[in-house]
Parts: sequence; structure tokens; C-alpha cells
Amino acid sequence: MTDERTPKVVEPTLFELSSPGRVGVTFPEPDVPRAKLPESLLRAELPLPELSEVDVIRHYMRLSRFNYSVDGGFYPLGSCTMKYNPKINEDMARLPGFAFTHPLQPIETVQGNLALMYTLQQWLKEISGFAAVTLQPAAGAHGELTGVLMMRAYHHARGDTKRTKMLIPDSAHGTNPASSGMIGLQIVQIPSDRRGNVDLAALKAACDETVVGLMLTNPNTLGLFDEHIEEVIQIVHDCGGLVYGDGANLNALLGIVRPGDLGFDVMHFNLHKTFSTPHGGGGPGSGPVGAAAHLADFLPSPIVGIVEEGDDETPPLYGFIEPKQSIGRVKAFHGHFGMMVRAFTYIAMHGADGLRAVAENAVLNANYLLARLRHAYHIPYDRICMHEFVAEGKVEGSDVRALDISKRLMDYGFHPPTNYFPLIVHEALMIEPTETESKQTLDAFADALIRIAEEAKTQPELLKSAPHKTPFGRMDEVKAARDLVLCCWLPEEKGS
Ligand SMILES: *Cc1c(COP(=O)(O)O)cnc(C)c1O
Repeated sequence: MTDERTPKVVEPTLFELSSPGRVGVTFPEPDVPRAKLPESLLRAELPLPELSEVDVIRHYMRLSRFNYSVDGGFYPLGSCTMKYNPKINEDMARLPGFAFTHPLQPIETVQGNLALMYTLQQWLKEISGFAAVTLQPAAGAHGELTGVLMMRAYHHARGDTKRTKMLIPDSAHGTNPASSGMIGLQIVQIPSDRRGNVDLAALKAACDETVVGLMLTNPNTLGLFDEHIEEVIQIVHDCGGLVYGDGANLNALLGIVRPGDLGFDVMHFNLHKTFSTPHGGGGPGSGPVGAAAHLADFLPSPIVGIVEEGDDETPPLYGFIEPKQSIGRVKAFHGHFGMMVRAFTYIAMHGADGLRAVAENAVLNANYLLARLRHAYHIPYDRICMHEFVAEGKVEGSDVRALDISKRLMDYGFHPPTNYFPLIVHEALMIEPTETESKQTLDAFADALIRIAEEAKTQPELLKSAPHKTPFGRMDEVKAARDLVLCCWLPEEKGS
């Protein structure tokens, strides 16, 4: 067995790098008389690291390089849409007129911001086919919570209070049962059929007058578009239920099909996935919610509207309006405005044709990878996929697991795919390449996975002990969760 191990980096803390008497900053001589600091505030012993400016810069630069990022390499993390975030989005969000405004400013002084929010609402309506949009929710799961609160409020407003169940297919994202459970609804799981669609017979059997609705992730977490989508929606509507669309996977549909046209009643967007605003460690999310006309009155308040029509000479006055039967506020102030500026920029830069090309290329890239990999890895639901697909992280004649394959991928310089999700595929590897990757990158990734499948048969130990080339080796994930250490350095105890 070739040993590909390299020595592990042991990163010293700033305290360990500290050298007595070294200073990082020299303050100018004060031009006012020195005052004595109050004794009560001074501590006799306050161990602080003593370093020069360059020591500190190098320490943090080194640490920052341990992070994997979209800007650093291919990041096929299924369901997360880790596409490239264009830097012009950042430039726009940092324009002083956007960055230095306060949410409590009088509306007359922030008309540009409100115009941007209003236009973004309009664009999201046009893209999704919904009648109204709120930009308040802070992330996808928060949008789901907003949507299910609206669904329940809709039933209650009609005096229909016996509806307490939410139907959720087993191919849904985990946040769907979480957000329905959070408002106290009972979750009824609907199985998938052999082609990865919602099982229609099971859905029909579960639909009755106790059902609030169905939460449908489409394309689902297998990366598959439900082949009976209109029938699924009809069955739920026939029993008086509503259909929630988990729109986190909109990257596959942009400009091709509109969930509102398919009959969905309410849906969230993930601006931080589909519209390239940074996520993960990169910043807060944004999960706007779109509603069909019959649910528009229940949207959280306030939403941005035109409060005074303009004419040829004067522009309209934008302000906040309160939907008539609003579920109330779901977020302080008006949502994550900086993310709205980034998503607005992304949409403006692409235009309608560009957005359609995003979806086409996302789907093409996923199908290209699927075609290259289906001979090396088993694909349990093998049909044309949307923007992602799920393979089994197993290799015939080897006992390696999905986790071993993922860890070994890190040695080849790639971020692993999503592991062990969705739950309906054993040893799931969920792969989402996104549209921003070139054929060369996709080929390099496929080559690595194919080589790893070979290694699994010939040198399984290499996988089981991977990664070997990263600054830190295989983590003990159970211990990490049970024995959480959030502080890596503590001053030595005196006298111990
Ligand atoms: C990411 C995702 C969510 C949750 O979105 P967050 O912004 O992470 O809360 C919900 N559903 C699906 C299908 C997703 O991919």
C-alpha cells in the first residue's frame, strides 16, 4: 500500500505563539493628559498573547486556508446549490446607499432600497408564477415555517379548524417535517414509488378533511421531478388541502416551469442557493415566500408596496403595506436586505434568457456526471435527473462506506457530496454540480470518483483511513458531538 500520508499540521494558538514583550501596535503619544484608570476595573493578571502585527496576520491567513470554499474548489454538496457567487453581487451590496441605511429610516429617505425590494418581489413573482411575495424570512426553513403558518391561517379563516395533519413524502427535505412539527401539526409520511415519485395510492389514502396540506420538495431530494405533479396537486386540492412547494431546488426549473402555474399554493425561494447569495459560513440566508392569490392576504406583514402612484413627472412612493389577514411579523425589520441586493444583481445580470440557461446547464451538468458515474456506482432511482442525483456510496466486492469515499475525495481536492441524505437511499451520496462548473472540472471529479471505486477494491484501507492530505485527518464525529470543546485554549490554572 502506498502511504500518501503527509505530516499533520499542528496549528499553534496565538497564546502559544506569544513572545513576552512583543507588541503589535504602537499608539501615538496622547495629546491630552493621561487619566488614571479606575482601580476596580484593572485586573492584576490578564494573560493576553503578545505578538507583532505580522504574526497575527499570518496566523489568521493560515487558518483561513484550512477552509474549503466555492472560490477554492469544486463543491458538489447535494441540495445546497454551492454555485459560484459572482463578485459583482458583493460590490453592489457594499454601495454606501445600500450598506449604510437603517431599517428605521423614514421611507422618503430610502426610496431606492424600497424600489429594489419591490422590483425583486415582482421578479420573483414572474419567475415563480405566484401572485404575491414576501422577502422577510431569513432562510429556507424559515420560509417553510412562514408558509405552513399561512396554510393553517387560511383554513382557520374559513372556520375549518379540524385540519391538523401535514402530508410529507419520504423524499422531502428534512426541514419540511421540522417546520410543520414546529407549529404542532402531525406529520404523515407518504412513501415514494419505484421511480422516485410520490406514491399516488398512498397519497389518496391519506387525503381527508383532517389534512392541512402536502409539503412537496420538487424536484425531490433524489433530484427527480415528480412525473405526476399535476395529479399529486389535484389529489390534495380535492380533499380541501393546500400544497406547499419547497422551492430550494428552483435551480433546476428557472425559466422552464413555474410552480405557481403547476398549482402550488405557496412556496419558498432560497436566494442563497438559486440566486447565488453566499451561504454556509459566507453569510446569512434569505428565504422569500411566494403565495397564490387565495393565500396572498395571509403573508407576513409588512411587505413592500406602492403607497402613492406616480405619474409622468413623479416616481411612485414605495412604502410598507399590511396584508389584510396577515399572520404577522416573522422577522425583525425587513429581512436580510444585503442578500436582496445580491439576488437582485444576479437576476438583473442574467435576464430571463440567462436564468433559463442557468437551469439548463445545471441539469445538463448533473446528467453528464450521472452518465459518467453510473457504471462505477449504483444509482437506485436511475432516470434523467434534474440538477442533482443520488448514488449509493458502495462498491461491489468492498466494504467501504459512503463516508470513506467522501473522505478520500478530499485527498483529490474536492469537497465531498452530501452524505447519508436522503434517508431512502442507503449510503447515499447526493451530488449537485451546479451550472457554474466546466466540463474539465466535472471530468476531473468523475475521474477521481472512478479511481476511488478502484481503490475501494484494491486498497480499501486507503479509503477507511482517509483523508491523508488535509491539515487534519479523520475526525471522531461521535466524540466531536458528545464532547464539544468550543474553546481551544485556557490559561493554565495557578498552583495546579
Ligand atoms: C436547503 C434546503 C432547505 C432549507 O433551506 P435553509 O436555507 O438551509 O433553511 C429546504 N429544502 C431543501 C430541498 C433544501 O435544499
